[in-house]
Amino acid sequence: MNKWEELDKKYIWHPFTQMKGWNEKPQTVIARGEGVKIYDVDGNEYYDAISSLWVNIHGHCRKEINDAIIKQLGEIEHSTLLGLTNKPAAELAEKLIKVAPNGLNKVFYSDDGSTAVEAAVKIAFQYWQQIGMPEKQEFINLGDSYHGDTVGAVSVVNIDVFHKVYKPLLFNTNKMTCPSYYHNNDGFATEEEFLKQLLNELEEHLKANAHKTAAMIIEPLVQAAAGMLMQPKGYIAGVRALTKKYNVLLIVDEVAVGFGRTGKLFACEHENVEPDMMCLSKGISAGYLPLGATLVTDELYNAFLGEPSEGKTFYHGHSYTGNPLACIAGSVSLDIFEKDKVIEGLEPKMKLITKKLAEIATISYVGNVRQCGMLAGIELMENVEKKISFKSDLLIAGGICQIARKQGLFIRNIGDVIIFMPPLVSTLDDIDIMLTKLEIAMKEVLENLSQREKFSDPCAF
Ligand SMILES: *Cc1c(COP(=O)(O)O)cnc(C)c1O
Repeated sequence: MNKWEELDKKYIWHPFTQMKGWNEKPQTVIARGEGVKIYDVDGNEYYDAISSLWVNIHGHCRKEINDAIIKQLGEIEHSTLLGLTNKPAAELAEKLIKVAPNGLNKVFYSDDGSTAVEAAVKIAFQYWQQIGMPEKQEFINLGDSYHGDTVGAVSVVNIDVFHKVYKPLLFNTNKMTCPSYYHNNDGFATEEEFLKQLLNELEEHLKANAHKTAAMIIEPLVQAAAGMLMQPKGYIAGVRALTKKYNVLLIVDEVAVGFGRTGKLFACEHENVEPDMMCLSKGISAGYLPLGATLVTDELYNAFLGEPSEGKTFYHGHSYTGNPLACIAGSVSLDIFEKDKVIEGLEPKMKLITKKLAEIATISYVGNVRQCGMLAGIELMENVEKKISFKSDLLIAGGICQIARKQGLFIRNIGDVIIFMPPLVSTLDDIDIMLTKLEIAMKEVLENLSQREKFSDPCAF
């Protein structure tokens, strides 16, 4: 065991990790990164097939971003947004508003995805108080939704494995059916019928409850943390139309799907959705530094204007809000999107992913492959026809990720779903190599399943 692994095991408590298993197994210590690869302290290289947990966009150690951060470091590392402002925060805000859906005109900065959601929830709640409709206090969310791990964000989450234990701490929400046709299609002959039922359910709820509802929060197009669950075409536009009709705010959480992952800069663009608020993080700084942003309309922002004595101020903020280093990374990242025509260049990459996934779909025990642009989920099933999942303690998908690591591919699963989310900068060759390595690891495990011992992957929940 090298020195850092020893220190890690002695002192670090890892996120989403059963530390017993972690401490019992050898662990990889990353030393550096370049482009789509990361390298450990022993010099082994790994393709970063999940963009360092969905944050990296233009590759590791991207020269333009490195240079900008170094230059900014020579000027100032941090200065507060309480009582002051700074150049990178102001410039990034302008750039974000330029590319965001119409109607979003103000940026509230925070530190990560959870805080971007916390801020949105609190803004929605306070907004109605301040425009004279204080009875609008409830929230609508989706089955299997994920919006972060702080207590306010967890209140609008519906993933029991992660958060069941905290239920007594949380505020109540009104949960709509998870809009995943693959998982919830019982009794619906077509996806269109399923969509109709979803919107019907929402409208019935709004009819009876809109007068006491503050906002609905959704992850548009793809519920990523739930295992890349895809929504029927027309769903987000339908949700927008209904929330507008019944005067309920729509918060879209683009923390995972924003910044090109779905093939457009923002998922909302696929159906021309103009939300009341948009939560951004993960890809916002191209994977360099923690940064969150909650974008809001003028209507929301204006409801908080007044004399100090009126008490309309939004009393929320974080110490590192608007951090110049994070903001300069975000600013240069958006410049790269434009200069390199990143979105325009995704088409052949997405097509290649589709083609490779079709091969992967033929491997035994693969129940469902789903893709939206540059992100994909491969769901394993013990019985594909009857849609019976593997027993949860088998950790088959986690085992595949372990084997892939030995072949130089860093990839992770969520339950029985293997997540593929490469940096947007990945070339066709990179994508081909990554998915070929995955295919080999999958075959090694799945074609010899009966002879295998039980896996125990400390990383796989
Ligand atoms: C990751 C994620 C969050 C939480 O972001 P953190 O930066 O981890 O706090 C919120 N919403 C969605 C959709 C996410 O994928």
